[in-house]
Amino acid sequence: MSDCLFCKIIAGEIPSTKIYEDEFVYAFKDINPLAPVHILVVPKNHISSAAEINSENSSAVAHIFEAAAKIAKEQGIAEDGYRIVTNIGENGCQSVKHLHFHIMGGRKLEVTMG
Ligand code: AMP
Ligand code: ZN
Repeated sequence: MSDCLFCKIIAGEIPSTKIYEDEFVYAFKDINPLAPVHILVVPKNHISSAAEINSENSSAVAHIFEAAAKIAKEQGIAEDGYRIVTNIGENGCQSVKHLHFHIMGGRKLEVTMG
């Protein structure tokens, strides 16, 4: 999508700190980290949120979780544990309308479920 921030990051039109990339997935450092490790993992194909996952595009989610497990190990947070979060829409406080999963770790996270 031409006006999508994360599509532009994937295309290299906007700079990012790349952590991981393969055919389906791109991962980069969150610009405003909320934890010592805070990485965003996104599908290369534009999907606007997890609410748009369907039988045609759901393999993107499997690829993302495979990449996330790899990234967590590489970042040294796998053993102590970490969190994977995706926000959806207005009430979910989704600010960028391209599906992304936050990987956060490196410290004990708060138990906030809303
Ligand atoms: P969300 O609020 O779940 O939509 O998350 C969007 C995330 O994107 C936030 O954590 C932002 O800090 C992050 N973000 C916004 N712009 C950029 C950027 N140019 N590079 C890296 N992360 C970004
Ligand atoms: Zn996009």
